[in-house]
Amino acid sequence: MIERYREFLPISPATPIISLGEGSTPLIYSRRLSERIGRGCDVFVKNEGVNPTGSFKDRGMTVAVSKAMERGTRALICASTGNTSASAAAYAARAGISCVVILPAGKIATGKLLQAFAYGAKIVAVNGNFDDALRIVRELGETGDFTIVNSINPDRIAGQKTAAFEIVDELGDAPDFHLLPVGNAGNITAYWAGYREYFARERSTKLPSMLGFQAAGAAPIFHDYIIDKPETIASAIRIGNPASWKQARAAIVESRGAIDVVSDEKILAAQSWLAQHEGIFVEPASAASIAGVFKWCDSDDAAYSFQKIPEGSRIVCTVTGHGLKDPDVIIRRMKELKPVAATMTDVRRAIGM
Ligand SMILES: *Cc1c(COP(=O)(O)O)cnc(C)c1O
Repeated sequence: MIERYREFLPISPATPIISLGEGSTPLIYSRRLSERIGRGCDVFVKNEGVNPTGSFKDRGMTVAVSKAMERGTRALICASTGNTSASAAAYAARAGISCVVILPAGKIATGKLLQAFAYGAKIVAVNGNFDDALRIVRELGETGDFTIVNSINPDRIAGQKTAAFEIVDELGDAPDFHLLPVGNAGNITAYWAGYREYFARERSTKLPSMLGFQAAGAAPIFHDYIIDKPETIASAIRIGNPASWKQARAAIVESRGAIDVVSDEKILAAQSWLAQHEGIFVEPASAASIAGVFKWCDSDDAAYSFQKIPEGSRIVCTVTGHGLKDPDVIIRRMKELKPVAATMTDVRRAIGM
C-alpha cells in the first residue's frame, strides 16, 4: 500500500517498509443495496475487512510501524477496542519488535483478542473502558519507552487516507456521499484528509459529504458531550470520548455532511441484511454505515425521507472490519442447530424443501 501511494505519505528513502500486503481492498458495486435505496442511486461497499488482520487499521499500522522502525523504536503500545491491538501485534511481529496492548477487561470481541494472543503481544486487561485504557497509554507513551500506535499517532491517519485515494482512483471521481462508522473518529478524519488532498491535486472534480454514524448508546459527537459509560453491541465504536473529536467535527462541517446515530437493533439487522443479500459479512460496528444508509434513504423511515440524499447520488459505504472477528451474536443462532439421522428422509425433512 505504501508503495502505491508513496508520494502522499510521510515516507523517505530511509524508511524501512513494514507491510503485510494491506490496502487495494474491493470496492463492490452493490446491486441489491442500490435497489433497496432506489431513486437511481448507486451504492458501493468498500470492504476493509479483507485487509491482512481483517480491518482498516492495517492501513494506518503499516505507516505507523514503518515510521517507528525508522526512528529505532523497540516496542509499540496501544489501547484498543480490539482491532488496533490485532493490527499492532501483527505488524510488530512482522517488524521483529514487541507490542504491548492495554485492553478494557471483558470488552473485547473474541476473534480480536484471539488475534492479539496469536501474534504474541503482551496483553494487559484493565478494569475500565477504552477511554481509561487510552489515558494510561498516553501516560506510558510519555516515558519514551514506547511508540503509541493509537490513532492519535499522525502516521496512522496518513496511512488511512489511502482508502479515499483508492475509491477516487476506481470510480474516476469522488462519490457524492461517503458513509462510515465513527468511534474515535480517526477514520472519518483520514478519509476527509484523503479526499481533500486528491481534490487539491485535481485527481477529483468534487468532494463528498461525509456522513458518520455512531451507535445510539455511544454517541458523544452526536450529542456533543462526553459519554462516561458508552454502551453498544458494536464494540469497535464503543467510545465515549473520541480522540479525533475536533477533526471529525471539522470534516462534517467542511464537507456539509452530518453525524447521526443508529440503534444496536438496526446495526444487527443491517449486518444480517448485508451478509444475506450481498454476501459481505462484517462485524457489527461496520454495519453502522449500512444501517446509516438505510436510515437516510429508506422510504418507510418517515423522519429521514427523500430530500437528504438526492436522486442519482453515488454513495460509498465503508465496512471497516470482518465479521469473523466478533461472532458472539451469531454463535447464539448457531446453537439452535440440532443433528438429525444420516438418512435421506431425515435430511430432506430438515431441509424443509
Ligand atoms: C476502529 C474501528 C472503527 C472506528 O474507527 P475510528 O477511526 O475509531 O472512528 C470502526 N469499525 C471497526 C471495525 C474498527 O476497527
